[in-house]
Amino acid sequence: MYRIAQLLDRARQQRPGHVATRMDDRVRTWAQVHERIARLAAAYRALGAAPGDRVALLGLNSDRYFETIFATAWAGTAVVPVNTRLAAPEIAYILEDCRPAILVVDTAFQAVLADLPAALRPAVTISLDAAPVPDGQADHEALIAGHAPMPAAPAGGSDLAGIYYTGGTTGRSKGVMLSHDNLVTNAFNTVDGMRFDRDTNVLHAAPMFHLADGMNSYAVTALGGSHCFIPRFTPEGALEAIGRYGASHAAMVPTMLNMLSRVEGLERFDTSTLRQINFGAAPMQEAVFRRVQAKFPHVRLLHGYGMTETAPLLTVLPAEYNTLDGPLAGRLSSCGLAVLGVELRIVDAEGQEVPTGTVGEIAARGPNVMLGYWNRPEETAAVLRDGWMHTGDGGYMDEEGFVFIVDRIKDMVVSGGENVYSAEVENAIALMDAVAEVAVFGIPHPEWGEAVHATVVPVAGQALTAEAVIAHCRTEIAGYKCPRSVEIRGEPMPVSGAGKILKTELRKPYWRGET
Ligand code: ATP
Ligand code: MG
Repeated sequence: MYRIAQLLDRARQQRPGHVATRMDDRVRTWAQVHERIARLAAAYRALGAAPGDRVALLGLNSDRYFETIFATAWAGTAVVPVNTRLAAPEIAYILEDCRPAILVVDTAFQAVLADLPAALRPAVTISLDAAPVPDGQADHEALIAGHAPMPAAPAGGSDLAGIYYTGGTTGRSKGVMLSHDNLVTNAFNTVDGMRFDRDTNVLHAAPMFHLADGMNSYAVTALGGSHCFIPRFTPEGALEAIGRYGASHAAMVPTMLNMLSRVEGLERFDTSTLRQINFGAAPMQEAVFRRVQAKFPHVRLLHGYGMTETAPLLTVLPAEYNTLDGPLAGRLSSCGLAVLGVELRIVDAEGQEVPTGTVGEIAARGPNVMLGYWNRPEETAAVLRDGWMHTGDGGYMDEEGFVFIVDRIKDMVVSGGENVYSAEVENAIALMDAVAEVAVFGIPHPEWGEAVHATVVPVAGQALTAEAVIAHCRTEIAGYKCPRSVEIRGEPMPVSGAGKILKTELRKPYWRGET
């Protein structure tokens, strides 16, 4: 029904002279970017990429990265944005999995190419920005200059537009096949739910390969708004870029917001243009929310929940509930209401709907639900049942449809027959001033099956003991939820490419030898 090319056509028709992309001193209008994308798509086709072929993209955030995402759709091919934190063998796994016709790469990843097995290197490599262009590679700018614009490929709504790999938080990431309809309907849901408007100037500060940020590429284009970019996230870099580009919006995961809340000397930065930060993709502790809101009182923090498999948005918490005080405050810990077009229900292990307020698995249906996992029919069948995507997330819904996520089902701790939800314990521990980061998970226990364990990173220079953490928990939550053991960690938490804390890594030493 929809095509990604429509988003670009709309932007060019309605806002030809408006700034589309801005990076360093490169500033381009929608008329210019539209033409560049149509030329680039012609180049991909001339280089041998046929409709349906994959184009893998390995690079840091940039205007050219953005052009590549859209040019692949324009050409009728499917983009495969590769997680930039992966090591060469993991990148090799993705290339082997999706077999792209073209690999697009920026200078930051040129060195990785040498480490890839020759058999996995696609026939064509395009350099986004290397100067000089390495031997045997095509050059993004030269391709644009050297090809006439092509009309957009006549893709159907259910045609493959991209294979986005999942965050890899719980294991090896899976390639999620997303169609034009999936990504365009999500763009509309994002515009509506995230309250974007034509004046939106979104800063791509989080990695664009992950849909938490990537969805803004599509949504803000649908409105003919503007995009600006920083190659990789640092809190100071993001704050500086907001001032330099006059950014109005950005998307961030909780770990990024946590870092932002701890930047010293905020008066160095001009963030007056910033209206909103969308956050989601991992649990957000209320203490972190409070700290960010106190530091940036003029910025609306808008909470969304989603997953790669649903392109990604499922819920948004309406902004009026983002309040720390007053009658609406009780919904602050909710991830909000289903976005338009998405149906949600909470089901038990048999797939039956559970009563309001009961914890079960969140299931979703709608035009944004993926076509399936690439090359993994069994895993697709396990999660996509009767048109419903079973998210693997545990949560409940209240009497007005507000969704509360309690934990990933895989992460729930079952201790002595009681379910303990890690997010609740993490929230309690994060209230301690000396706590910078916290992760709670189960470790083996001879008697109870699992025992609640917390790994805590203290704020630099602050003293923290395991006993103090446990004593604090006793004042906040029921005894059976309190951690039995606490590790005080002297280094930052391990995080995924998308910036999520990797409990899989933290768990390893405790579960060694266990099945
Ligand atoms: P993998 O599937 O590879 O293990 P992943 O689940 O982290 O990794 P993504 O698709 O990036 O991959 O993330 C979706 C998941 O992130 C959701 O299923 C949910 O567990 C978590 N998540 C997303 N938004 C929120 C949120 N607002 N609050 C809590 N958790 C969230
Ligand atoms: Mg997942």
